[in-house]
Amino acid sequence: MLIFTKVDALQSWISIEKNHGKTIGFVPTMGALHTGHISLIEVSKSANDYTLCSIFVNPTQFNDPSDLAKYPRPFDTDVQLLVQASTDILFYPPVDEIYPADFKDVEVDLNGLDQVMEGIHRPGHFAGVVKVVNRLLDIVKPHKLYMGQKDFQQFTIIRQMIQYLQLPVKLEVCPIAREKNGLAMSSRNTRLSKEGRELAGLIYQVLMEGKKLKISLGPQELVNHCLQKLQIPAFTPEYFSIVDSSTLLPIETWDAAVRPVACVAVWLEGVRLIDNEYYD
Ligand code: AMP
Repeated sequence: MLIFTKVDALQSWISIEKNHGKTIGFVPTMGALHTGHISLIEVSKSANDYTLCSIFVNPTQFNDPSDLAKYPRPFDTDVQLLVQASTDILFYPPVDEIYPADFKDVEVDLNGLDQVMEGIHRPGHFAGVVKVVNRLLDIVKPHKLYMGQKDFQQFTIIRQMIQYLQLPVKLEVCPIAREKNGLAMSSRNTRLSKEGRELAGLIYQVLMEGKKLKISLGPQELVNHCLQKLQIPAFTPEYFSIVDSSTLLPIETWDAAVRPVACVAVWLEGVRLIDNEYYD
C-alpha cells in the first residue's frame, strides 16, 4: 500500500494514473477502522482500479473539544487492516495540508438538511463535514465516493453538496455493518465497557420493533413508543425521528414514496451512538 501525507505528492500520483485511464474509488474516514470501514473498501475495490482511503480526524466537525481529544487514533492497527484489505493508497495528511493558510471555504445551500436531528444537537458539525469532504474531493477527484448508511444525515448532506456544486463524482452508499447484537459498528464503540456494548444492542432492537409496529401505529405514536423503549437507566436518548429520507423532515403519515427512515441518537457511558433503519 502506498502512503501519502502530502497533497502535492498524492495529486502527482493520481494524475499519472488517471492519464492511464485508471478509475479511483475514495473512502474518507477518521480512522480507528472497523469492519464497517473495510466493507466500504471492499465495495470500492470491486468497482474501481484503485481504492484510496483517507484517515483524517477533521477538527472542524467536532463541536465538542473533548470528543476530538478522546477520538481514538490507532494508526498502526489501521495500517494493518488496510493492508489486509488490499487497499491501494492511504492518504494520511496533517491538518495544515487539508487547511493551509490560504484555504478558502465554499458556500453550499444545504436546503435545511443540516437544521434537523444531528444538526440540532451538534451545531457546526455539518459545516465541518461539508468543508472537509469538499476539500478531500477537490484533492483526490475520485470517480466514486463511498460512504456508509450509518451516518444517514451525513451522506444525505454530501449528496446535496455534490448536486449543488455539480461535482463530477458518483456517491455510493453502503449498508450498515453491525456487531452480533445489532449494534452499528462505530469507532466510538471502543470507548464503551463490555456491558455497555451489550446494552447498546437495544438501539437496533428498538429500531426493528418500531419497523414491525408501523402497521398499527402512526409515525408520531411510533416515535413516542420507541423513545419510551429507550428509556432505560443507562441510556439518555437524544432523539428518535421518523423522517422523509430526502428532506429529513418528520413525516406525519406513512407514505412509501418518501422512503421513511427512522433515525436515533442515544448517549451511553458518555458516548454518543447513532443508528437508523429504513421503514419501508
Ligand atoms: P468515520 O470514520 O466514522 O468518519 O466513517 C467513515 C465512513 O465509514 C463514513 O462514510 C461512515 O458512514 C462509514 N461507516 C462508519 N461506520 C459504519 C458502519 N457500521 N457500517 C458501514 N459504514 C460505516
